[in-house]
Order: sequence, then C-alpha cells, then structure tokens
Amino acid sequence: MEHTQSSQLFKQAQKVIPGGVNSPVRACRSVGCDPVFITEAKGATLTDADGNKYVDFVGSWGPMIVGHAHPEIVGAIQKTAELGTSFGAPTPLEIDLAQMVVEAVPSIEKVRFVNSGTEATMSAVRLARGYTGKNIVVKFDGCYHGHADSFLVKAGSGVITLGIPGSPGVPDDIVKNTISIPYNNVEVLEKTLRDKQQDIACVIVEPVAGNMGCVPPAAGFLQAMRKLTSELGIVLIFDEVITGFRLSYGGAQEYYNVTPDLTCLGKIIGGGLPVGAYGGKAEIMNEVAPDGPVYQAGTLAGNPLAMVAGVATLRLLQRPDFHKDLESKAAEYSERLQTVAKKTGVPVHLNRVGSIMTGFFTTVPVTDYDSAMKADVSRYAVHYRQMLGQGIYLAPSQFEVAFISDAQTEKDLDKAIKMTEWSFKKMLEM
Ligand SMILES: *Cc1c(COP(=O)(O)O)cnc(C)c1O
Repeated sequence: MEHTQSSQLFKQAQKVIPGGVNSPVRACRSVGCDPVFITEAKGATLTDADGNKYVDFVGSWGPMIVGHAHPEIVGAIQKTAELGTSFGAPTPLEIDLAQMVVEAVPSIEKVRFVNSGTEATMSAVRLARGYTGKNIVVKFDGCYHGHADSFLVKAGSGVITLGIPGSPGVPDDIVKNTISIPYNNVEVLEKTLRDKQQDIACVIVEPVAGNMGCVPPAAGFLQAMRKLTSELGIVLIFDEVITGFRLSYGGAQEYYNVTPDLTCLGKIIGGGLPVGAYGGKAEIMNEVAPDGPVYQAGTLAGNPLAMVAGVATLRLLQRPDFHKDLESKAAEYSERLQTVAKKTGVPVHLNRVGSIMTGFFTTVPVTDYDSAMKADVSRYAVHYRQMLGQGIYLAPSQFEVAFISDAQTEKDLDKAIKMTEWSFKKMLEM
C-alpha cells in the first residue's frame, strides 16, 4: 500500500498547522507512523489521498453511527444550505432537534446547543457552579471531557495517548478546583464527596468511559454516584458525548436507568457536523442566560446545517430495533475477536458496552486508569500499523474505542477478523 500522497500532504500540513493536525491524536505519534489523509468516505469505507480504501472503525470518533455520507443526511444538508447557512437568529430547525433530544433523553427537559463537546461540558460545569454557588469539580482519572482548563487533570484521550500529566497554560488556580479520583471506586468517591460537600459543585463522569479505551461502569457505581450526589446537594453531570444516542436512543442513562441532573451531548447529535449540547432539569437550565444569570452564548450555535444533520441522524436511529441490532452485531464481532486472541495466544482483555469496545493488550481486567495503563502500547502500535496496511482503519491509540456502525457489512467485519488473526500471528513472530 502506497502512502506517497499522504506523506507529501503531511509535510505541507506540518509547515502551517502545529504537528500537521487540528487534533493531536490524529498525528498518529503513539502508533509510530504518519497519518493518512482522507479525501472521501461512504458508508464504512474511507478513501485516502493515494486512493487506498479502509474499513472504518473510528467513524469520526463516534458521530458516524449510520455510516459516512448517508444520502438522507447529505440531502438534508444540501437542501438547507441553499436556504442560507447561518443567520445568528432563531430558526425553526433548532426547535426540531431540541424536541427530539428532550423526548429521547430522560434527564433533559431543556437543552442548549453549542458547537462542540468541549463547549458542552465547559458550559455544564459553569452552570453547575452558578446553580450551587460552589466551585469544585469532581472527575475521574482517565475520563475525557474535552479540552477546557478544568478538565485537563489526569484526563483521557490524547492526554493519555501523549503521556501529558496536565497541560502548561492551565493555571494552578483553576486546577485546584478540580479533584480527579479513580473510576469505579465507590469508597473513594463517597469519602471525597462527604469530606468536601460544602465546596463541590458537581461530579462529571463518562457513564461508560470511552477515552481510556472502553471501561464499563462497575455494577452499582453509577447508582451510588446518583444516590450520594442527591443526598449531598451536588449536581451530577453525565458526559454522554460518546454514549448519547449510541448505547440506546436515550443514551447511557436509559441503558443503565440512572438519571443525572445535567447531560452533555455531542458527536452523534451533529450527524458529522460540529454540534454539542447540554441540558437537564428545567429548574437548573433556567439559570442559563437570558432566563438566568449564568452566561453562555455562541455565534454559530444552533447552526441550521448542523441542526438538520442532527435531526436526519436521529430519525435514522428511530428505526425499530436499531440499537438492539447494532449491539448484537458488536457482540458477535467482539466474540470473534476474543476467539482470535485465544487461538493465536495473544493476551487481550476486551471490554465492550453496546457498540463501543477496546481490546487492551494485557492479561489484567481493565476497570480504571491504572489497569488501562498496564496495556502494552508498543504491541498496539504494531497491530495498528499492520491493520492499516491491510485496509483496516483503527483508532491510532490503545486508549480509544472501536466504533461499530450501522454501515459496516458482514464482509467488512469478516475482513477485519481475518486481518486481526493475521496481525496477531505476525506479532508473535517478531
Ligand atoms: C469527544 C468528547 C468530548 C469533546 O468533544 P469535542 O467535540 O471534541 O470538543 C467530551 N467528552 C467526551 C466523553 C468525548 O468523547
């Protein structure tokens, strides 16, 4: 497989864009190769600048749950674009998407649209602080909530991938209001919340961690969190930027039947266009300007193209049994992967919830940040490069999930299984 065009483009990009990319993990540094430049995508197939084709397991990091360039989504965007792309004024389309979100997500009575997941989490935390009059944010090691200052403490995603402990440019004065504790540890959670309840505004969590690889919540973890935060007057925020509309139509809160106070959304609700959202109980959302004093705004927020892409995507997800079928497909695929691991003797611990999964190259169960860090990242790097060379596009980091979409065909998944077996065998010969 030739990557001449991509190499050329990467050289050009590095001259004008830091690291040649607009989001760090894309540079592929932790897997030891240069990124391929994508020029086209359809269904579950990506095409790069050299004309190579790949079966996509990234799906733009989650949004493409129905596949790329779905005709109904593209059609809706085209039709809307002809009527103007941004007005900075209310449009009927915002109500359509808001109504669909309110109907779908158990915790959401009112919702505000923003332009990214980062903006959603940042705004939800500001709101929780404004509402409670308290400052401290409790988060979990290895969870990622976008790149706002308060969250860059033991964060997941690119922060783990690149081994950055925090980030220069984030003042200590801000970080001192963030407490990061281990995921899936109810004792530490309870002690932290009880000790500092006077100062804690909110707990923010990925109900299924997806940014240290896939790490499911232990039985009772989310329930205990809900119980404690209610008792102690702390706002519970579910960051459902990945899980929203993915684990089920109502997200992880519906899947696990635990209802937070505020919910952050992104990725899927934009159908591949830049959208985020935060919403929750009306009593809390009414604190947002102009109804309340907590300020948050956006020139392009509620953008018509983004709204129709979201509406078109959610409509497709309303197909009867959409999520059930997606989950069975993912379950079968993950079982086949485990069979390959056993057969070849490569140690893999595979975590899966619904249509997201991670095969960690380790023998220990992965339940939190510390156990995720036991994974053999050099082994992942070899696997990544071998799979890419065979036309399988995985996330360029051990600490991300593989996304199963509605678009991957049986043939796509068969090919991925076959290539995984080949890659594992080859890895053992090294
Ligand atoms: C991707 C992600 C974000 C950030 O969203 P952006 O659109 O990249 O700003 C926040 N939280 C979670 C759980 C995510 O996966």
